[in-house]
Amino acid sequence: MRISAPIVESLDTILPDEPLLMMGAGPVPIPAKVAAANGIVINHLGETMSRIIEQVKAMSRYVFQTDSTHIMGVAGPGSAAMEMAVANLVAPGDAVLSVSNGFFSGRLAEMSDRVGGNVTRLIVEEGIAADPDTVATAIATHQPKVLTIVQGETSNTVYNHDLPAICRAAKAANCLVIVDAVCTLSTMPLDMDEWGVDAVITGGQKGLSCIPGVSLVAFSDNAWEKITTREDTLRHWCLDAKLADKFWYQSSYHYTAPVSGIMAIHEALRLICEETLQARFDRHLKCALALQAGIEGLGLDLCVDKASRLNSVVGIHVPKGLNQKDILSHISREFRVEISGSFGLNIIRIGQMGEQCRVHNIFRTIHALGSTIQALGGEANLPRGVAMLEKTLQEYRPVFA
Ligand SMILES: *Cc1c(COP(=O)(O)O)cnc(C)c1O
Repeated sequence: MRISAPIVESLDTILPDEPLLMMGAGPVPIPAKVAAANGIVINHLGETMSRIIEQVKAMSRYVFQTDSTHIMGVAGPGSAAMEMAVANLVAPGDAVLSVSNGFFSGRLAEMSDRVGGNVTRLIVEEGIAADPDTVATAIATHQPKVLTIVQGETSNTVYNHDLPAICRAAKAANCLVIVDAVCTLSTMPLDMDEWGVDAVITGGQKGLSCIPGVSLVAFSDNAWEKITTREDTLRHWCLDAKLADKFWYQSSYHYTAPVSGIMAIHEALRLICEETLQARFDRHLKCALALQAGIEGLGLDLCVDKASRLNSVVGIHVPKGLNQKDILSHISREFRVEISGSFGLNIIRIGQMGEQCRVHNIFRTIHALGSTIQALGGEANLPRGVAMLEKTLQEYRPVFA
C-alpha cells in the first residue's frame, strides 16, 4: 500500500477532561438524555423506528404549533433544512422577496437565487427589525410568490418581532412565507398555523438544544400543494420533500435516516414537551434578560436597541482597545467558557438557547467575561455585573405561564 496509516492522537488526549461550557451562538450544550439517545442505532425502517417517527411528528406539531402533516427531518445542518424549504418552494423563475437583515437571511436569498428564483433583497438597516409596512410595500411592488425571512438573525442579534404582521401581509398577497427559526424555535413564541407560516426551518444545535447535523422542516398545506403540483423535477434529490415524504409518512425508504440523530431529536423534543413551551419561553426570557443586565452592569455595550434585540443570542460590542480574538481565547483558556465572535463584525456573542439558559451557566459566564476583560486591560465592574444579574433574576415575573 502506498499510503500508510497516520499516527494520530485519540480523542481522550485531544479533548479536555472537563468539557468547555458552550455559551456561544451554537452548538449549545445538550442534556444527558439527548447525548445518550444519540448513541443508539436501530433499524431505520422497522416498527420501532415507525413509533419513534410518529412521536417526533406529534411533538413537532406542538413545538411548531401546527396541525401540519408535512413535518420532516433532514440529515444535515440547519442550512440543509433552509435549502430543503427553498428548493421545494421556489420554482425556477418565481419572484422571491428576501427580507435581508444579515448573514443568515442573506443565505436564504442566495439559496433562492441558486434554485433559479428571481430574487429581490429587501435590505433592512443594520441593527433594526424589519418593518411590516415596508415589507408590505415591497410585496405590492414585486408580487413575490415566496418571501423568506429569519425570526432571529443570529449573526448580528436582531429580532424580527413583527413576523406575525409580515406573514399577514404576505398571506394577503398569496405569497408563501419561509421562516428560519433555527435559533429561536422553542426559545420564544412561533405559532406556525396562527401566523400563517408556510415553511418553518429549524436546526438541532441551537434552540432545540440537540446535536448539530439533524434538522426539521414543517410545511403548511398551501406549501404542500405547491410542492405536489410542481411540474418540474427538483434538482436536489436528497432534499426533495416528495421523496422525504416516503420515509416520514409512508414508512418506506428515501435514504437511510440519521437514526441516532433522530433519537437525539426525539429526546430533545420530549424534554421540551415535558417542560412545556410556556415554562421554556419564561426560562429563556428570564435568563436572557438577566444576562443582558449583567453585561450592562459590567459596563459593556449591547449591540442592538431593546426594541429589536434578539434574546436567543446576545451581541456585545468589543470594548475599545481590546481585540475580539483575545477575548475569545482568554475566556476559553482561563475560564473554560466558549463564546463567539461573528461573521466579520467586531462583536462578541453569547447564546441563550436551551441548556445555555440555566442560572448557574449565566453566573459563570458573567464572571468569566468580566474577569477576561479585566485581565486584558479593559474595565469591567464585576460586582455590579453580578448584582444586576441577580436583581433581574429575582424581579422576573413569568410572562407566558
Ligand atoms: C445557525 C443558523 C443557521 C445555520 O445552521 P447550520 O446548522 O450552521 O447550517 C441558519 N439560520 C440561523 C438563524 C442560524 O442561527
